[in-house]
Amino acid sequence: MQQEFSKAEKLNMVSELAAAIAHEVRNPLTVVRGFIQLTKENVTEQHKYFMETAILELDRAEGIITDYLNFAKPKSIHKERLHISQELLALLEFIQSYANLKGVHIESQIEGDLFITGDPLQFKQVILNLVKNAVEATENQGSVLVKAYAQNRTVLIQIADTGEGMRPDQLQRLGSPYYSTKEKGTGLGLMVTFRLVEEFKGRLRFESQYGKGTTAMLKFPCESPAK
Ligand code: ADP
Ligand code: MG
Repeated sequence: MQQEFSKAEKLNMVSELAAAIAHEVRNPLTVVRGFIQLTKENVTEQHKYFMETAILELDRAEGIITDYLNFAKPKSIHKERLHISQELLALLEFIQSYANLKGVHIESQIEGDLFITGDPLQFKQVILNLVKNAVEATENQGSVLVKAYAQNRTVLIQIADTGEGMRPDQLQRLGSPYYSTKEKGTGLGLMVTFRLVEEFKGRLRFESQYGKGTTAMLKFPCESPAK
């Protein structure tokens, strides 16, 4: 007997599968990377090169999970009222250790009572991808400023970095699948991010000055504060 699935059911199955893959694949990747790192010491230069290449590819696979599936969960999209400052502050704490490794300082100016509607895990994935890009573009001694405020019945979130910036032709390519200028990049982060922002009925645009820095600007429909 043939079984028919609705679009929603199919989407749900895909997201369950994605979550399972993210979870199950990450652990073996970490183990393999660890063993290669350990074996790297007493080998010929050529073998060392092979191993470094293998590690680079493993990191690329790990990157795909982070950009695409980090906050996937085995449930359908779950929309709720999101308290923006709580969500942002928790997330920035989570990303801070990554920023510390790169020598980047994250600052925030976040208004208290901002609310939007959407899936909390999708919101986390959006902010993670944007802040991660900001940190990666900035590297040593730079800073990333995350602002959130209300304006004309919208919630604006801006992520500004003092990093390498982009030329107009680079700006135009943002969000195209596999477009990456990084050695270990996936080029999937912004593609996913633009799609998720649509789920929120929001907008994402970038302003950038080559050599000076970039600002990612998110705009979401506003909810009135909780009574
Ligand atoms: P990835 O981070 O894996 O390269 P993304 O889709 O997240 O993939 O980003 C695509 C490309 O957009 C990056 O490789 C980079 O060239 C550019 N980019 C994104 N954000 C910034 C930023 N804040 N500053 C400079 N370049 C950026
Ligand atoms: Mg990225």
